[in-house]
Amino acid sequence: MTRRYVMATRNAHKVDEVSRILQAAGAHVELVPLPTDAPDVAETGATFAANAMLKARSAAEFTGLPAIADDSGLCVDALNGMPGIHSARWCGQHGDDAANLELLLGQLAETPALRRDAQFVCAAAVVDPVHDTEHIVEGVLEGRLTDAPRGEGGFGYDPIFIPHGEQRTTAELTAQEKDAISHRGQAFASLAPLL
Ligand code: IMP
Repeated sequence: MTRRYVMATRNAHKVDEVSRILQAAGAHVELVPLPTDAPDVAETGATFAANAMLKARSAAEFTGLPAIADDSGLCVDALNGMPGIHSARWCGQHGDDAANLELLLGQLAETPALRRDAQFVCAAAVVDPVHDTEHIVEGVLEGRLTDAPRGEGGFGYDPIFIPHGEQRTTAELTAQEKDAISHRGQAFASLAPLL
């Protein structure tokens, strides 16, 4: 039986991406977008998991439906794990991917190739108000950062991130290739059996 979940994001692209990943993982779910009049959630948590849980709880409370949410970002070893939970607004403005990427490259200008390790991290949460259950899982993609952007696919920091074992940036992978290894792909594949 197909069960309906609300996806706690205003990003239609993310609803499609997560639907694709859950379907590939064998979950029979229908994802519906967050209603436009749902309240904005302040991401006040100190971790990806805390912020994913805040978003899922808020969406479940508002809609009465089971809710799925994620929170993700890029953690750079040479920056002690930053931008981390601040990845979307690293340049000071939310969601300006080009400015975020340019600022990060500038901050790493003196950092040699050997010390450019980084991880994409994704926490995925599901809150079911009917059965009163909550679950949280995490996925991590290890890699290293280039010193100049490459590739047209993906979004955010994809043009400067090369997964370990790859020569291409995640912006040079197809969507299916990225889903198969990505932090979000891993997190939602772990969540699928819990839905
Ligand atoms: P959010 O989980 O939608 O809040 O994403 C946080 C931010 O992390 C995004 O705006 C991107 O800057 C970065 N990010 C998360 N996942 C990815 C990815 O798969 N590729 C590139 N950047 C990502």
